[in-house]
Amino acid sequence: MSDCKLQEIYGSHVFNESVMRERLPKETFRELKKTIDKGAPLSPQVAEVVANAMKNWAIEHGATHYTHWFQPLNGFTAEKHDSFLDLGEGGQVITAFSGRALIKGEPDASSFPSGGLRATFEARGYTAWDCTSSAFLKEDSSGLTLCIPTAFCSYNGEALDKKTPLLRSVEALSKQAVRILRLFGDETTDRIQVSCGAEQEYFLVDKKMWKQRPDLVFTGRTLLGAKPPKTQEMDDHYFGTLKERVSAYMKELDTALWKVGVPSKTKHNEAAPAQHELAPIFETVNIACDHNQITMELMKKIADHHGMVCLLHEKPFAGLNGSGKHNNWSMTTPEGVNLLNPGKTPGENAQFLLVLCAIISAIDDHAALVRASAANAGNDHRLGALEAPPAIISIYLGDELTDILEQIEKGKEHSAKFGGVLDTGVPSLPNLSLDSTDRNRTSPFAFSGNKFEFRMVPSSASIAGPNTVLNTIVADSFCKIADRLEQAKDFKKELHTLLAEIIKKHKRIIFNGNGYGEEWINEAKRRGLPNINNSVDSYAAFIAPESIEMFEKHHVYTETELRARYEIKLEKYTKIVSIEAHTLLQMVNRQIMPACLGFADKTAKAILHIKEAGCDILPAEETLRKLTNNITLLHKATKKLEHAVEKSERLDGDHIAQAKYVRDSLATAMDEIRKYADELETIVGKEDWPIPTYDDLIYSV
Ligand code: ADP
Ligand code: MG
Repeated sequence: MSDCKLQEIYGSHVFNESVMRERLPKETFRELKKTIDKGAPLSPQVAEVVANAMKNWAIEHGATHYTHWFQPLNGFTAEKHDSFLDLGEGGQVITAFSGRALIKGEPDASSFPSGGLRATFEARGYTAWDCTSSAFLKEDSSGLTLCIPTAFCSYNGEALDKKTPLLRSVEALSKQAVRILRLFGDETTDRIQVSCGAEQEYFLVDKKMWKQRPDLVFTGRTLLGAKPPKTQEMDDHYFGTLKERVSAYMKELDTALWKVGVPSKTKHNEAAPAQHELAPIFETVNIACDHNQITMELMKKIADHHGMVCLLHEKPFAGLNGSGKHNNWSMTTPEGVNLLNPGKTPGENAQFLLVLCAIISAIDDHAALVRASAANAGNDHRLGALEAPPAIISIYLGDELTDILEQIEKGKEHSAKFGGVLDTGVPSLPNLSLDSTDRNRTSPFAFSGNKFEFRMVPSSASIAGPNTVLNTIVADSFCKIADRLEQAKDFKKELHTLLAEIIKKHKRIIFNGNGYGEEWINEAKRRGLPNINNSVDSYAAFIAPESIEMFEKHHVYTETELRARYEIKLEKYTKIVSIEAHTLLQMVNRQIMPACLGFADKTAKAILHIKEAGCDILPAEETLRKLTNNITLLHKATKKLEHAVEKSERLDGDHIAQAKYVRDSLATAMDEIRKYADELETIVGKEDWPIPTYDDLIYSV
């Protein structure tokens, strides 16, 4: 594709700034920009003009419908389509799209999870236009639809979605970050933005194979499957040559993403066979979040065009690497100055170190909450399993930065390894060799030059939740720091004392070693760092008193909103594991067991026939014994799971008790079934096994 072609395609389906500049009257454009950039209120008159321009643009491209596009608490995106059709006075057909319809929608959304926030008698939720994220045209075989990114809230204004708290958290962080900038003499910057780049991992499998696996169809992961002779031992897939079918898929995906303005940049094979990754260029977090939702949606949709299925589950295959999302996070001024860039002047250096220390203390103070923000049922199979970060939150800084912090803590400015003392009383920073900061792949939260990379985020989840938490805890940390430094009589002295205090108190969270090692688990325990190895336990952090107080203080979540999310998360966990249990029971009872019995029968008959012919057949007898043994054990394990499922259903309504029960009883019973079923898979003949095996699946594309 030539440069021109790429430029022509990129954003061609987006009602972006240049389209608005071209199509809106100057004054309207200026007013709208004020709302987008500075959050100024939008007048109904402006909305009316924008709506009309948007409608005409969409219709010219062939759209007939529009939808308010939002992100309810189920983690997906939702849309309800309305056509532009209206009837004029004489009954003639006209097209219409009012400013009111642009700004506000009223989907009857009583079926979305609300955690009790919205009683059914007031089931209406409201969608409100988020003009900071551009409207775009979504394309499928039925045509084009105008999608208007919106926030979704209840009649009382409680957030029923993921976007609203994210936007609130950016506001909170911006407000507190500006206070920090003021301390260092910046009198003009009036807001900061959060930048985010989410690297997305995924698997591709052949659709025909996928269809034959109820576990993949219903749960997104394999619940059974013996390990094949070769998976990722040879490291031959990572960054390997793309197969043509995969590269054709990636090409179509890129083009579709570019059209809707998603800046897809990098694509490559990942560690496991059939695993791949897509990384976009980073953007403002709210847009990055919308774009990641679009990316996941298109990944699935376009796979179908190529006879494949895209798996976004965190752990589709046991024994193979799982998938995650690396959430790259930084803060930037409107002029594009990154607050996580070590500066060139003494003042910039001191500011950078303060920002760094604020983040260190935020992560240490709220480690459990950060952990919870990346928790879901799928990630429980991944975190701490020596392929993804451990479940313990720590920060990787690299040796150079760690050394600098140690110097500050000890107050030994003059002996600072990397230069003299600046007039701020803070050691000067060397030209950090930034590349050396980024090569520790085992850390959940790593400083990589000018951003932090949160590597725990689940591949299937929205990035809104983790970023809402990161933004808020850093806002809170900035707030505490600003409260103190704004009162300081001698700013430089107080700054230095504060930095030393923070480092002393929070250095336990810094860990530059191997996060996969057994020693780290013990060391972390010694340091008093939480190690929460499952999502059910982790969710408690959302309703811990200190979390509620912090979120309320910064107007990100109310207590009611937090409790609602807590309930929804527990309920979702239970539903996921229960669906897995039902699927596994169905597969075992209707596919695995009959196949094993059939094969046992075949083997027994063969033994009899051979004996009739006057020969001994010891190996076959051994096989038969092994078969029948495992069949019996499988049967017992199945009964255990059936009982556990029944019991868990009796706990309906008590979300925490049910989630804990499901975690402890269903999950373990499922593991047991898997043990026997996988053993049986290695005995039963290939032709007699009723479902595609791991070999079939991971080498299917
Ligand atoms: P990797 O982690 O695989 O080495 P890169 O370093 O190339 O990958 O970048 C990963 C992601 O980080 C990309 O999506 C990139 O756009 C994003 N990124 C780069 N700089 C920043 C920044 N300042 N803030 C947020 N994200 C960033
Ligand atoms: Mg990365």
